[in-house]
Amino acid sequence: MRIAVLGAGAMGSVFGARLALGGAKVTLLDVNAAHLAAIAARGLIADLDGTEHRLPLAAMTPADFTGPADLVLLFTKVFHTDAALGAIKGALGDAMVLTLQNGIGNAERIAAHLPADRVILGLTMTPAEFLAPGRVASHGAATTRFYSADGQARPILDDLVAVMRKGGIDAKADPEIQAAIWEKAAFNCAMNAICALTDGTPGGIGALPEALTLAQDTAAEGIAVARASGIAASGERVRALIDHAAAHHLLHAPSMLQDRKAGRRTEIDALNAAIAERGAALGIPVPINRMLTTLVRLAEAMPAYRQNTAGARP
Ligand code: NAD
Repeated sequence: MRIAVLGAGAMGSVFGARLALGGAKVTLLDVNAAHLAAIAARGLIADLDGTEHRLPLAAMTPADFTGPADLVLLFTKVFHTDAALGAIKGALGDAMVLTLQNGIGNAERIAAHLPADRVILGLTMTPAEFLAPGRVASHGAATTRFYSADGQARPILDDLVAVMRKGGIDAKADPEIQAAIWEKAAFNCAMNAICALTDGTPGGIGALPEALTLAQDTAAEGIAVARASGIAASGERVRALIDHAAAHHLLHAPSMLQDRKAGRRTEIDALNAAIAERGAALGIPVPINRMLTTLVRLAEAMPAYRQNTAGARP
């Protein structure tokens, strides 16, 4: 299987490495010139569960990619989806596009670029770290699930599961993928946004009963929006996930907190903001997600505001 990984940062490079180990012909596509140069010079170095792999993968910018590909694995941050897919428009041919990005609305964003029956939608709990240009790491088994966005069974799903498993990814074709995606998003809306705003961790949330209630109420709004959208997401499963994280992932720093600390843009638009917008459209009350969206956007905007107003009177 010829797979182009579009957005070969932490996740894209880890998946690219594992897919290559599984026998796929992998091309990494990214706009990070230092990363591309390091891969061209030394190959992609991937520490996978403590074993270092040096993989001589093809790596180039999306604009330089001419195809062909059977599958494009989209792993940019959500807010770069349009630019990335736009850049490979001429090379897409009749490739399927798989997204394992976080948040909701990913299938719709991709379907703006190609027919909806070529979109595969999924999620992964695999952790990945970008250590340096040309070097990534991932530790710990975690599930990856996906299915055709239109709900149809297709042979490529089984082929992809086989390649992923051969490469060490715990992959599964899951017709209930929409519910799983909304459950993960509801969980992330709670844990990511609250931690990002408070420099908090799941354990810290668990240690303050009213913070745990806030997290559960945030997620419950997301589940209510999912169910009003006709998606059978389970509030019970998400409650249990939050309780588990609060009791066991004591000092974990969620990605939105890491992004805030590094001054990077967050994926709030695909998480709390998406819940707030869809809830408003459906008449489902979403006051907590609306407030968390505003606070995260304010936190993101403040450094530029301070810089632009430096020297002004207090
Ligand atoms: P990342 O920032 O490490 O990687 C994104 C890559 O996209 C970068 O290398 C960037 O240069 C590249 N990019 C930006 N614009 C591009 C463009 N126009 N064309 C091609 N490439 C472009 O992010 P990540 O941590 O790998 O996350 C990717 C997605 O996976 C996100 O949606 C994230 O929420 C999700 N996710 C991450 C993890 C994790 O542990 N890191 C786990 C689960 C899900």
